[in-house]
Amino acid sequence: MSEAFHGAEYCWMNGSVVKTEEALVSAMEPIYLGIFEGIKAYVEGDVLGSGKLNFIGWRPHIDRLWRSAAVNGLKITYTKQEMQEATRETIKANGFDTNVYIQPRIWPKAGKGRYLATEFHVVIPTWKFDTLLGRGNPRFGDERRYMVSSWRRISSDALPPQAKSWANYANSGLATREAARLGYDGAIFLDSRGFVSEGTGACIMTVRNGKVVTPPVTASILESVTRGYFIEFIPRDLGIPLEVRDITRVELYASDEAFLCGTGGEVTPITSVDDNRLGDEYPGPITTRIAEHYSEILAGNVEERREWLTPV
Ligand code: PMP
Repeated sequence: MSEAFHGAEYCWMNGSVVKTEEALVSAMEPIYLGIFEGIKAYVEGDVLGSGKLNFIGWRPHIDRLWRSAAVNGLKITYTKQEMQEATRETIKANGFDTNVYIQPRIWPKAGKGRYLATEFHVVIPTWKFDTLLGRGNPRFGDERRYMVSSWRRISSDALPPQAKSWANYANSGLATREAARLGYDGAIFLDSRGFVSEGTGACIMTVRNGKVVTPPVTASILESVTRGYFIEFIPRDLGIPLEVRDITRVELYASDEAFLCGTGGEVTPITSVDDNRLGDEYPGPITTRIAEHYSEILAGNVEERREWLTPV
């Protein structure tokens, strides 16, 4: 089985590092009631290189894991510090010295009362990944045709997107498969009010007349760690104005640039939405500036943003 699907050779499970192929549970487990996080560690100095690794946004990611657990009635029986040590141990066991994706997962153990479970699995798989960032990375400029999904983003008053539950991703699956069936590279959700929400696994930012605009948390989005960092650094470090407000579908069509942002998506430029090509230049100049600066932050080269990094 490929590593992309199966994870790295070792993962951490319920207290110790184990071979991933031996990290097995019963098919009767209520895995679908689980939650997770997606965290990355990048190479110091140059995101396309190898060497010493730093977590980006460890603290806000792990805090969100605890919030997702609380919302879903799950209890994490380790401390936040123990989770960090466990992740370190797993990365070490795999011998990684290039960029790593880490996905802590918590779910109820099989037993009576699946919604009221008192025992839980804690597993930390890891993967290597290819970054879209880094100077001259040819993949950054790939064309990406997006469509507005006919599926709406799950509502905060039904299945809250602010908690990172696996169940939320059934919604993302519907939109992704629709986009693939119609020949698009990806989908953007509207919320239940009809305003632009987010992508299937990342937040969205648009650029119009030199200003970055991104939907608010009340537009049924995940409270993205990356989005939070971007809201902070885009105006302060780059001097580019940024506004958090609702965006209409037609405003999205009229954008000069748009990109997805998230731990997985990093900065993913969007070429067109519903076949409306955005702006004159692709990838757009502001998207490119943001991506270059973010990649410097991830590599630890921006002194005042080093507090977002934690050595592995
Ligand atoms: N929205 C969704 C639906 C996501 O799955 C993700 C990835 N976690 C994001 C946004 C981006 O969040 P973050 O920046 O915290 O990774």
